Amino acid sequence: MLKELIDKFYLDHQTEREQTHLYISDAGKCPRQIFFKFKKAPREKMDARILRIFEHGEYMHRNIFNILYRLRIGITTEVPIPPQELISGRADAILCINSENYVLDIKSMNSMIFRNLTEPKKDNVAQLQLYLHYFNIKKGLLLYIDKDKQEMKEFVVDYDENLVRSLLQGFEALKQKIESNVIPPKLADYSSNWQCQYCQFRDVCSMAGAGELNWEDFKKKIESYGSKLQD
Ligand code: SF4
Repeated sequence: MLKELIDKFYLDHQTEREQTHLYISDAGKCPRQIFFKFKKAPREKMDARILRIFEHGEYMHRNIFNILYRLRIGITTEVPIPPQELISGRADAILCINSENYVLDIKSMNSMIFRNLTEPKKDNVAQLQLYLHYFNIKKGLLLYIDKDKQEMKEFVVDYDENLVRSLLQGFEALKQKIESNVIPPKLADYSSNWQCQYCQFRDVCSMAGAGELNWEDFKKKIESYGSKLQD
């Protein structure tokens, strides 16, 4: 009764953010999924439970920001990178601890993932490296929070110029594919990759096959399948 009403509230207020720009938070994500977002390919609605998990993560971020200000170590929070052509992004915070500046990125996760975390996750490091690059700061801090038990783990990450170069090349390659309407291939470990489990484009992805293909041709195929696409 009430549960259904709350679920409906979340589903009714679900906004599918249009993607017209690449974001630092896309680093490490499936390029095909990002491509489909840009092209507004048909996607499944997120379920209400996932929307509540996102919302809870946002509360936890705000809570940490508040503590940073009270500790007087948060120079600034939710800081956009300087505007430039390729990507946009907003770091959680820039901190000063013991006279050293750090870019902070906060991630929350469930207890099971948190318990097994012995090193920072690759995609989180990739995002943090790009923030370090654009803010010209040499050290980053990844703070992981266990949503269930409220425990924390932190990892210091040093700027890695080579990694940043390869990440930026990956973004350039994806931008070119988006502009030239070439759908990137599936992830090599489709469908066991965790991103596939939560992907809203699973149906269209499986219709597209494994390799690269032309978006305009594929769009005709899914339109005839009954999905309405906008240009
Ligand atoms: S199902 Fe997996 S491979 Fe396909 S778009 Fe989604 S994340 Fe990428």
